[in-house]
Amino acid sequence: MNKLLPTSTAGSLPKPAWLAQPETLWSPWKLQDEALIEGKQDALRLSLQEQQDAGIDIVSDGEQTRQHFVTTFIEHLSGVDFEKRETVRIRDRYDASVPTVVGAVARQKPVFVDDARFLRQQTRQPIKWALPGPMTMIDTLYDSHYKSREKLAWEFARILNQEARELEAAGVDIIQFDEPAFNVFFDEVNDWGVATLERAIEGLKCETAVHICYGYGIKANTDWKKTLGSEWRQYEEAFPKLQKSSIDIISLECHNAHVPMELLELIRGKKVMVGAIDVATHTIETPEEVADTLRKALQFVEADKLYPCTNCGMAPLPRRVASGKLRALSAGAEMVRSELSGNDHRASW
Ligand SMILES: [Zn+2]
Repeated sequence: MNKLLPTSTAGSLPKPAWLAQPETLWSPWKLQDEALIEGKQDALRLSLQEQQDAGIDIVSDGEQTRQHFVTTFIEHLSGVDFEKRETVRIRDRYDASVPTVVGAVARQKPVFVDDARFLRQQTRQPIKWALPGPMTMIDTLYDSHYKSREKLAWEFARILNQEARELEAAGVDIIQFDEPAFNVFFDEVNDWGVATLERAIEGLKCETAVHICYGYGIKANTDWKKTLGSEWRQYEEAFPKLQKSSIDIISLECHNAHVPMELLELIRGKKVMVGAIDVATHTIETPEEVADTLRKALQFVEADKLYPCTNCGMAPLPRRVASGKLRALSAGAEMVRSELSGNDHRASW
């Protein structure tokens, strides 16, 4: 990107009410068959338009074609039985009924490649595509086949790499892996979590990102956050290894989080997508608040490596709120951008 402080979102955006029940995770589709395919494409166009109107620089599909950021990907794989469900504890936090791994997992056909191609046709702006990371995938399943979280993670990494290579060929500029599980299973992150992520990006020439957050603004997550105390130092566990990894960009949560900003020092040298929009509240940030978060981050991230972003996806928010937040993000980034170019000007005197 030539522009300083290019803005983007962590991923999901609200769906229109005619496509899926608003403000709901795993919301069932309201259309079927051909009408559903068309409806998803229309929603993708609207979501893109929304981002463009708000002045977002790196755009996405708003995850309009998926019900959920993890399960929709898994649904397309063989070896997973969606009828056979078990209740597991997700990210050590809440119970959910999940599908079972019953045999060798494989990707029989591309999952999101057609959608990515469709998005590519709609815009010349840089596009970012989100995939679930290997560790977050295994944490959303019951495994009765491999009986090893690590083994299954390596299998998923191989499958994700196949998908990522095809997304790259379809014209995606940044491929992002969502790994909220990195904020929970610290030993596994360091034993094999980062390694499986690097397997997933093997051979890619496009940019790669990992998104690590404290989750959507749903009750299970906000309740969990209350138990974390006044300082959230979870990033401290994964950052040193990620700093040495081949991942280009780290996407993280900052605004309204109790994450000490100086933890960014641990990933110095990496590009950082700084979360300057809280997705757990309907209150729309002011541009000044956004600018404030970005200015704090600039103490630890070089200006040409700072990417203003949202803390997480905004799928569960009302559309009006999400749209306001996108505009605040753009306006806040623009404030800091003009301050920075003002500084350049003074320096050149
Ligand atoms: Zn997130």
